[in-house]
Amino acid sequence: MVMKQYDIPVSMLRQYCFCPRIVYFYLVRQLTPSEKLWMKQGVDEHNRQIMLNNRRNLSRYHICADNWKIRNNIELYSKNLSIHGICDCIIETSDEIIVVEFKSNEHLMCSAGVKIQLCAYVMCCEEKYNISINRGFILYGRKGQTYEICIDEKLRIKTIEVVGKIKKIIDTEILPDSTAEAKKCCQCEFFNFCADRY
Ligand code: SF4
Repeated sequence: MVMKQYDIPVSMLRQYCFCPRIVYFYLVRQLTPSEKLWMKQGVDEHNRQIMLNNRRNLSRYHICADNWKIRNNIELYSKNLSIHGICDCIIETSDEIIVVEFKSNEHLMCSAGVKIQLCAYVMCCEEKYNISINRGFILYGRKGQTYEICIDEKLRIKTIEVVGKIKKIIDTEILPDSTAEAKKCCQCEFFNFCADRY
């Protein structure tokens, strides 16, 4: 049997948690929806946070380190998980490597999808740097508040499970069921493609 090669963007893990159908539309149907205004605002805010983050010290992360480096927009991949993506920020100190993801939407900052996305980048980093990492951060809101996320076994298992479910969607090419409620569908870029919704 020929092994299938997967190349799953890490952002799809977060999208899967929002609604599995979004993954189907992107990766199976290869649709690219037109950009909505809130998406453009998200990109602008993301760029602003990168600029500010480069000027900040590590106090907001409660990290004390003499030598440290902040690097933005780092390309990562995991051969083990078959995922790739660009993580917002990596902080390197002499003791640890810390992955930081920026989120402008404060309400979503500790959603399952955001945690799984962060964990996926951490697992990519562990593979790249051959180290073990037990935490990461979400930097959220206009003031750049931080929220620490523990990268424990439970979160790692969930992340691996989501990757498996995405691979299944790619393999079967079947539109998955969705339990997305109206408030999700109304803001979804694929609303017009889901004929059975609201
Ligand atoms: S419209 Fe609703 S069901 Fe369809 S992809 Fe978007 S969130 Fe999912």
